[in-house]
Amino acid sequence: MKIAILSRNSRLYSTKRLVEAAQSRGHEVRVLDHLRCYMNISSSSPTLHYRGEDLPVYDAVIPRIGASVTFYGTAVLRQLEMIGVYPVNESVAISRSRDKLRSLQLLSRKGIGMPITGFANSPDDIQDLIKMVGGAPLVIKLLEGTQGIGVVLAETKKAAESVIEAFLGLNANIMVQEFIKEAGGADIRCFVVGGKVVAAMKRQGAEGEFRSNLHRGGSATLVKLSPAERKTAVNAAQIMGLNVAGVDILRSSRGPVVMEVNSSPGLEGIEKATGKDVAGMIIDFIEKTAKPHRTKTKGK
Ligand code: ADP
Ligand code: GLU
Repeated sequence: MKIAILSRNSRLYSTKRLVEAAQSRGHEVRVLDHLRCYMNISSSSPTLHYRGEDLPVYDAVIPRIGASVTFYGTAVLRQLEMIGVYPVNESVAISRSRDKLRSLQLLSRKGIGMPITGFANSPDDIQDLIKMVGGAPLVIKLLEGTQGIGVVLAETKKAAESVIEAFLGLNANIMVQEFIKEAGGADIRCFVVGGKVVAAMKRQGAEGEFRSNLHRGGSATLVKLSPAERKTAVNAAQIMGLNVAGVDILRSSRGPVVMEVNSSPGLEGIEKATGKDVAGMIIDFIEKTAKPHRTKTKGK
């Protein structure tokens, strides 16, 4: 097969591993920097150009679009979808996953467990916002944050008020969330491919740190999932419409609760913690499912 990978950098661990896995299975693979793709959107036969070249029709595309370039990256992916290329994750599902508010509303509507969560932009009554989500301790998150930056634990009502006021002073969208204390500073990353959890790791925050992000000094180990956790992860990916997803779960006293669903989950942490060939499993999935003109949304 001819496979394209949309990635800004072919030296990234995830990109390199996908290239390797595709080549070792005898596929032709090319990494395209989505920001350098340009396209004729008015032609009746849509095309995609790259460095002066009209790109061939690929059998499949693996999008690895970073959050900061979601808008242009998904437009390039949509163009490929219109040409008939099979997308491992569809553009619409990626856009959906990048909107945390929309994602959590969707998951909640479908009965997926999640921490009690409030969203706000400029509430006039901060006390009521705090009361609405059950009072302190609370986790307050900047919507635009990644890698644990902008995630704050407020242990008291007073602290929660000050943090919320500070964030609102920055005109930021914020999420106010019940603190899942019993998670013990750990979360579980479930890597879903084609409706199955193919690998899972537990990330434990450094001593005295409630955030388990590896970027914040957390460490990852292999973990065995309960059937409920497995089901939650698979359902969450399915609701988001993602074939490949990283579902982040906290172990709460009322069962698994979903924090986030990532549409471009990194491969390095999960492959190193589990010793599994996750890149190979993504290619295997493509071999089984890729067919031309399969995009359900077709960019409509
Ligand atoms: P980011 O997307 O920036 O990584 P997260 O929302 O994933 O931010 O939060 C970072 C970490 O903080 C999580 O991995 C988890 O360990 C911890 N955390 C986040 N929300 C909660 C919560 N409601 N209760 C307990 N721990 C949480
Ligand atoms: N690579 C990041 C992760 O798996 C997330 C990327 C994204 O979907 O925004 O944690």
